[in-house]
Amino acid sequence: MSKRADHIWMDGSMRRWEDATVHVMSHALHYGSSVFEGIRVYDTPNGPAIFRLEDHIKRLFKSARMYRISWPYTVEELMEACRETVRVNNIKSGYIRPLAFRGAGPIGVSAMDTPIHVMIAAFPWGVYLGDGALENGVDVCVSSWNRLAPNTIPPGMKAGGNYLSSMLISYEAKERGFHEGIGLGRDGLLSEGAGENLFLIEEGTIYTPPGSASILKGITRHSVVQLLADMGHTVNEQPLAREALYTADEAFFTGTAVEVTPIRCCDGFDIGNGERPITKAVQAAFFGLFDGSTPDTRGWLDYV
Ligand code: PMP
Repeated sequence: MSKRADHIWMDGSMRRWEDATVHVMSHALHYGSSVFEGIRVYDTPNGPAIFRLEDHIKRLFKSARMYRISWPYTVEELMEACRETVRVNNIKSGYIRPLAFRGAGPIGVSAMDTPIHVMIAAFPWGVYLGDGALENGVDVCVSSWNRLAPNTIPPGMKAGGNYLSSMLISYEAKERGFHEGIGLGRDGLLSEGAGENLFLIEEGTIYTPPGSASILKGITRHSVVQLLADMGHTVNEQPLAREALYTADEAFFTGTAVEVTPIRCCDGFDIGNGERPITKAVQAAFFGLFDGSTPDTRGWLDYV
């Protein structure tokens, strides 16, 4: 990535962007042995705030535990390192990428005594799926690639290697002219997008695939479920057939990168009549957290 900020936090101290490098024999480069998070920072009326920082760092710890990756920092220390990286780079709104990985050491796949490195980058960042995505929605396809099957690589952990699956789904979608691809689970039921969770609305009822559907249980997904509850809606977490997407009245993606992005069309089927009352209400509630129009009753904003 070309230089996007001045400093990167790495292994306990700030380094210049160009000095935060790794050795080519790093285990993670060979085998995907990294765990990471993607977090957004928003420019709020009270200054830059990181959205659900603690929840993201706690998820990072869970992903790390799965792969026997450990480091000498506490949740609070990594939270403060994230805030510090935002502060030193003077970022008002953008993206934070904490990543921990197995470095250069023994080359064996199962080597556990490799050094562990932890880094945090932060840089300005805008809309993920292109201009107009939040207003107009995106066109997607169901991928010919399935999501990771349970009992192979755990889909619920945010590890580097998982993203080979996301790449195949997303590359195929883009090559076919779509903004994004949706993966099915091994059972042929809906799972999620390459990097985002999926919600459907039919006859006023809201659905999302359950945690067991090979999804990463998104922090945005959880936030949206809570915001919908505040509006009096229940979200049904249940297995969903592929055709439910084609016949939905509304559908949207959630994720740190996509935020809340409507789905306009899937595999050539227009989703509903394009009116999207519930999606619009969710978007208003979600983005309202950052301009102060939605009260932050759960302490989700972590001011830097
Ligand atoms: N699924 C996958 C595969 C993802 O990579 C992401 C992005 N982290 C999500 C869902 C959404 O998760 P979150 O809302 O926590 O960003």
